[in-house]
Amino acid sequence: MDADLVVVGCGPVGLMAAIRAAQHGLSVAAVDRLTEVYPLPRAIGMDDEIQRLFATAGMLDGLHRCSTPMPGAEFQDRYGTRVVGYDLEPGSVGPHGHPPVVAFDQPSLERLMQAHARAVGVDLRLGVEVVGLSNTTVHTDAGTITGRWVLGADGASSFVRKHLDIALEDQGFDEPWVVTDTTLLDPDLPLPRNCIQHCDPARVVTFVPGHGTRRRWEFQLQPGETHDEMSTHERVAELLAPWGTAAELQIDRVAVYRFHATVAERFRVGDVFIAGDAAHQMPPFNGQGMCAGMRDADNLAWKLAAVAAGQADPTLLDSYDVERRPHARGQVEHAADAGRLINAIAHGGEAALEAGYGGGRSFPHLEAGCVTGAHRRVGYPFPQPIVDGMGYDRALGDGWAAVTTVEDRPDLPAGVRAVDADPAWFPGLVESGITVLVRPDRYVAAVTDDPTSAVRALAAAGMRFG
Ligand SMILES: Cc1cc2nc3c(=O)[nH]c(=O)nc-3n(C[C@H](O)[C@H](O)[C@H](O)COP(=O)(O)OP(=O)(O)OC[C@H]3O[C@@H](n4cnc5c(N)ncnc54)[C@H](O)[C@@H]3O)c2cc1C
Repeated sequence: MDADLVVVGCGPVGLMAAIRAAQHGLSVAAVDRLTEVYPLPRAIGMDDEIQRLFATAGMLDGLHRCSTPMPGAEFQDRYGTRVVGYDLEPGSVGPHGHPPVVAFDQPSLERLMQAHARAVGVDLRLGVEVVGLSNTTVHTDAGTITGRWVLGADGASSFVRKHLDIALEDQGFDEPWVVTDTTLLDPDLPLPRNCIQHCDPARVVTFVPGHGTRRRWEFQLQPGETHDEMSTHERVAELLAPWGTAAELQIDRVAVYRFHATVAERFRVGDVFIAGDAAHQMPPFNGQGMCAGMRDADNLAWKLAAVAAGQADPTLLDSYDVERRPHARGQVEHAADAGRLINAIAHGGEAALEAGYGGGRSFPHLEAGCVTGAHRRVGYPFPQPIVDGMGYDRALGDGWAAVTTVEDRPDLPAGVRAVDADPAWFPGLVESGITVLVRPDRYVAAVTDDPTSAVRALAAAGMRFG
């Protein structure tokens, strides 16, 4: 065996999986057919849960260098009137202890992640194309690599997914859009501060204030407009004319995409898994495609490591699909509903305002898997308060933690770190006599006054702790 885990595809999701798996103690080989990071405009927004993951993985300083907090977001009608939206105070942090959303530059982020992957010991092989797969042996144009497990993080047209014959369930959204990233040349150009969905029937437009001088526009194509015609810089300059001239906005990159909404019918076949765009694709309106893939990566990494270390039975790996697929589907449905809302505001028709930014739609959580008990916070991320100017996660470490007020410590298995908590930091979650079991991916596995029984219940999902 060449490595515990072979990762196919080193986009952001494959890199995060490789980094987290290596940090949990696995040997990891990761291959990508490209030698450079993907150059076209793609992800630009990252939520606080994934910023927290970057912090856990030791990449927060690097993320700060290529990102800027977003001040708010809204859906506007044709007259520019807000239909639904929100504004944030400068310095706002969300429940994960980071700004609710930051705008970032995906190529810079991927370069940061490649360097970090190498630094944590990932055997990163760029310019290597995967051409075949037999069980967990990956055939490439540069030889074979055998792993105990294989992860296909090879993007929307995933070779691994197709090889495993995993079908995609279509969630019923499919629209062509042209996307352009520009550099703001004139700092006095009056552009919105917020991310805007401008739902104008003449043409629906998304505007995203990016990191530094980056400004992004996404234009919905009209019937009859072709990919070739709409992807020229001349045509994009015409579309940008209402916002700025060539002297004010420099067009850096242009790409035409079909925004669609799909979820793979399975995320695993035997010892081969899929994650990220290989497993689910969504329109970008909520900025969640990559974030959802990062959740896949972090969810899988600690489970593989627990099985390799003998702290869990291989059945724990069943929980990857059980937990991640419905969660990702929830986000795909939300993103498609946001697209439907855009069209309804622009052209009329029925759509729930709830799907808009600030519309109050609840975020998906883990409904089953390696969780136990009926407490309302089970299956949700454990919040991260800022205590003495620092994120509380430093107290949790990078494994299982039992956050408790109980002085006479419950009988916790080896490998679970007992952590004292001030209940005031965790209102409604950490209470007197209660123990909160937090997983390595920061999700709440149990909220209980009987941790011994909770630990026993988690054995049903494969956790043995050891
Ligand atoms: C316009 C737009 C805006 C977006 N905005 C956001 C946003 O704001 N926030 C957000 O979270 N997401 C956003 N997304 C989605 C996000 O870009 C993707 O979800 C994310 O890039 C997927 O990452 P990935 O690692 O799964 O796949 P990819 O980034 O596609 O990486 C897959 C990798 O696999 C490699 N590969 C493929 N086949 C092989 C093979 N056979 N052998 C070797 N290597 C292979 C490829 O070279 C590639 O590097 C947006 C997408 C678009 C198009």
